[in-house]
Amino acid sequence: MSEDKDQELMDAKRAQDYVDSLPVLEEGQTFCFECTPDAACFNRCCRQLTLPLTPYDVLRMRRRLGMDSGQFLSQMTKLKSFPDSGLPVAMLKMRPDLDETCPFVTPAGCEIYDDRPGACRCYPLGRGTSPSPNGVAETHYLVQEPHCQGFSAKGARDWTAQEWFEHEGVLPYNEANDRYMRLSAMVAASGRPLDQKLSNMCMLCCYQLDKFRELVGRMKIFSRVKISEERRQAVMAQDEACLDFALDWMELVIFGQSEGLEKA
Ligand code: SF4
Ligand code: SF4
Repeated sequence: MSEDKDQELMDAKRAQDYVDSLPVLEEGQTFCFECTPDAACFNRCCRQLTLPLTPYDVLRMRRRLGMDSGQFLSQMTKLKSFPDSGLPVAMLKMRPDLDETCPFVTPAGCEIYDDRPGACRCYPLGRGTSPSPNGVAETHYLVQEPHCQGFSAKGARDWTAQEWFEHEGVLPYNEANDRYMRLSAMVAASGRPLDQKLSNMCMLCCYQLDKFRELVGRMKIFSRVKISEERRQAVMAQDEACLDFALDWMELVIFGQSEGLEKA
């Protein structure tokens, strides 16, 4: 096993141990919280982060910044993979300053606030998922860090996880992210992690929608699958439709079948 793989396994184990140590917020249980720019801890949560970005996070951030995918991934992220599935994951690089701050934090807050990653929206909750017969089972964790004064802030109110997620605009993120996590879980369950070639293809299809569209034309992908004219047009025009198609396509490539796409 390479040193990189060893490191990835150790990082994954450390991350899992951390998550396992967090209190679970049960269904219907509430937490009391308020975060405002006048908090003394404002921006303290935007430093020294291990922040995995999902394909949907990258879609939103890249569109906001107007960067092409190659530029975004090489400048802003470090590429890793899930040890059990080999699916790629882009980690946001922190600034090389003493505080290791997030590259998007400014004195006035997050400069990409409306398109910030799903994990930032969930905070101070963490959201764990696992496959279930109905799709995805969620577990919510309370991330109560010593520097965060939001739990004792004046004006703090009670939230269930659902209320918090709706308030923070997490739901569209969950939908797209669950598809990627489900793909990863399916590959892990097969016991055959993606090889480097498939992992690179997954990176291109799911994280680089601009390049994926070029690939769709070059490989004549539309002629290999059953797809309506309406969906073709949406894939070429809308990032969300393109990511949805890319996930179906990867399922078809890896498993030979997909719930959302049939071979022609
Ligand atoms: S209250 Fe918590 S979430 Fe809000 S700025 Fe402070 S540390 Fe961050
Ligand atoms: S993306 Fe925005 S909200 Fe998330 S850590 Fe960076 S500055 Fe904070």
